[in-house]
Amino acid sequence: MKITNIVSHILKHDLGEELGYSQQYYSKRSAHLVEIQTDEGIVGWGECFGPGNVAIANKCIVEKVIQPLIIDYDPLDREVIWHRVYNLLRDHGQKGMVLQALSGIDIALWDIGGKITGQSISKMIGGRHREKVAVYGYGMMLRKENIDSLTSRFAEEAATIKTSGYVATKMKIGLGIEKDLKLAEAVRKGIGDDFKFMVDANHCYTLGDALYVGRGLEELNAFWFEEPLAPEDCIGYKELRKKLDIKIAGGETEFTRWGWRNLLENRCLDIAQPEVCALGGISEYVKVITLAHSYFVPVVNHVWGSDIAVAINLQLLAAMPPLPGGLYPAEPILEFDTTYSRFRDDLLTNPLDIKGQVKKNDGYVSIPDFPGIGVEPDRDFIKKYTISE
Ligand code: CA
Repeated sequence: MKITNIVSHILKHDLGEELGYSQQYYSKRSAHLVEIQTDEGIVGWGECFGPGNVAIANKCIVEKVIQPLIIDYDPLDREVIWHRVYNLLRDHGQKGMVLQALSGIDIALWDIGGKITGQSISKMIGGRHREKVAVYGYGMMLRKENIDSLTSRFAEEAATIKTSGYVATKMKIGLGIEKDLKLAEAVRKGIGDDFKFMVDANHCYTLGDALYVGRGLEELNAFWFEEPLAPEDCIGYKELRKKLDIKIAGGETEFTRWGWRNLLENRCLDIAQPEVCALGGISEYVKVITLAHSYFVPVVNHVWGSDIAVAINLQLLAAMPPLPGGLYPAEPILEFDTTYSRFRDDLLTNPLDIKGQVKKNDGYVSIPDFPGIGVEPDRDFIKKYTISE
């Protein structure tokens, strides 16, 4: 079997309102799907992390830079393909867009591999430790409102996420340390004392500010503090972990086994959050999770993008070994964005219906066991939302 063609599809729709995190506000939702075609008619799907114009650059890397390196290769030779691409592009990007582009390609190759062998990706990795997984719902994005209206909005939204069935929730911060603690207080009030919430700073603090906010979050009994510092500040993370009791989570902006090795051997994190659609695809993800578990660091996958990305992560969570094992091991959870996205609700021919399942099954969703990633995007839907750039 041979790879005959690789196509990137960039989808976009208006959000109808501006949402934000600590770095920017945005008003459009986008997704970048990668399709690999073969001479035997089997097609694989993958997804690349990277919104907006980043997706346009990544499409160019997928189609114009990586495709010529691997055309005519056997799609089952995933490791050969991965290392050929990485080695030839090493001088131009050991992190960032090159790896995001390679991720979508690698995932599509796994989908093809599953379709050829009749196995789901969880089976290909080594089997399913579980058939269902609990879901935490994130929301509480920043908006251009004054702090009073934003705190009441956050309290309300957090309460809604709780009553929708999710097992925990996550909020954004990034307005400055005092306002951020007000937002966190509002969320705690909205959900009451018996529900877990996590706080995501998207790397907007220096060490001193992160310490201040972290101590405030400890008083509110927040479950983890995500990306408090810039990802480059490895020593800062290490120091923060020593000084705070709250768990420090991060790693969504890290790439490959080599990037992760640095984070892990320096003990930067209590919770590792690898992003499979960015760090190098499934081939690299399985190496990163092995590395994380070798340091006994629990993994909570970072999940972003369309329902294709959600489906991929469900497969990875089925295959995630218990750490360290026991009668009642801590189970992995699925990250799910509760804010509006047509690419999560309407993209697939056989929808995952995460929201519906969460509501019906006390916060749990079942994990599909069909060949490859186990879902197919609707081509008419893709056509309708594909941008021309
Ligand atoms: Ca995050």
